[in-house]
Amino acid sequence: MTVRGWCPGALAPMESGDGLVVRVRPRGGRLDAAQAGAIADAAEAHGNRVIELTGRANLQLRGVTTAGHPALLMDLRAAGLLDVDAAVERRRNVMVTPFADPEADALAEALEAALETSDLELPSKFGFAVDTGAGPVLSEDPADIRIERGPAGPILRADRMEAGTAYSGPQDALDLARWFLGQGGATNGRGRMRALILRGCVPCGTRLAPHPPAPPAAPGAHASGILAALEFGQIAPDTLRRLARLAPLRLTPWRMILASGAQALPDLPGLILDPADPRLALRACPGAPACASALAETRNLARSLAPLVPKGAVLHVSGCAKGCAWPRPADLTLTATAAGFDLIRHGRAADAPTLRGLHPDQLPKVL
Ligand code: SF4
Repeated sequence: MTVRGWCPGALAPMESGDGLVVRVRPRGGRLDAAQAGAIADAAEAHGNRVIELTGRANLQLRGVTTAGHPALLMDLRAAGLLDVDAAVERRRNVMVTPFADPEADALAEALEAALETSDLELPSKFGFAVDTGAGPVLSEDPADIRIERGPAGPILRADRMEAGTAYSGPQDALDLARWFLGQGGATNGRGRMRALILRGCVPCGTRLAPHPPAPPAAPGAHASGILAALEFGQIAPDTLRRLARLAPLRLTPWRMILASGAQALPDLPGLILDPADPRLALRACPGAPACASALAETRNLARSLAPLVPKGAVLHVSGCAKGCAWPRPADLTLTATAAGFDLIRHGRAADAPTLRGLHPDQLPKVL
């Protein structure tokens, strides 16, 4: 039942230091009040009450016991949040712009349905993005095949290609995924489109440029509703429950949830609505003791350092060199090692540090 790896699901959970990590992949990235309530109830009944929003716009429950996992699956199935099997769950890896209009929702629904019945055996991290808003907002988020808005309708773009081809339906996306496999893009269940493109393999077809990307979204009011940010991407069960009673929810890969159509939100615990909140500068994985690989506690340390982060900069505190919380360069990264924290400037958690083996007490002075 238990699978180790970096893309757990609900049917294929991952063991961690605090129990099983169970990842739920809501269809279309949307949750209604009943589904959000079911996830909140499940986190309280079967987990350790920790609900995390992932970098792929999924929700994951932590601290689930092996004994409680079957009951959790029953609850998720009753709420329409479970796939028929682990293979479908792995393949139905579709991220949707939170600013979706009915056309984008229909595109996502058709793509998810096609993936469910397809026989493609894609790497577990291989994913799709439906990003057909006025300008793409998911370009920097992980996806291998992107559906975006082009000059005269949706276009299909392989990640790392500057342009795409006209998109007429989900079969086009599946054909591009097949092309990826046919070109040798996957080996031993691993492989990403960007790596294949960088090796010089280029899909054929007329080149259509997507609309220019939109600026990064900030918490607060938007035309589609209110974006609420979550410290370290975590939301308490009761906050999730109460938020979903106010508006239908759309999940983002940015540690933010869109309360769709909302004009205002009450001050719910753990929600960040002020774009100037210093906690928005922080990235930190669960660290010790939640993750078995962690070499130090991370989140309390990050909170204590927040006032020292220069305006506009990002501080990433990572429990080990894997850098799960922020697999990109950050202005400042502190990576826990057996000998203390390494400081990396403008790099990723595994990059070469400028200072090594720092004790937590030294960090305020160094930053
Ligand atoms: S970065 Fe390391 S310590 Fe943090 S969650 Fe990932 S594996 Fe665990």
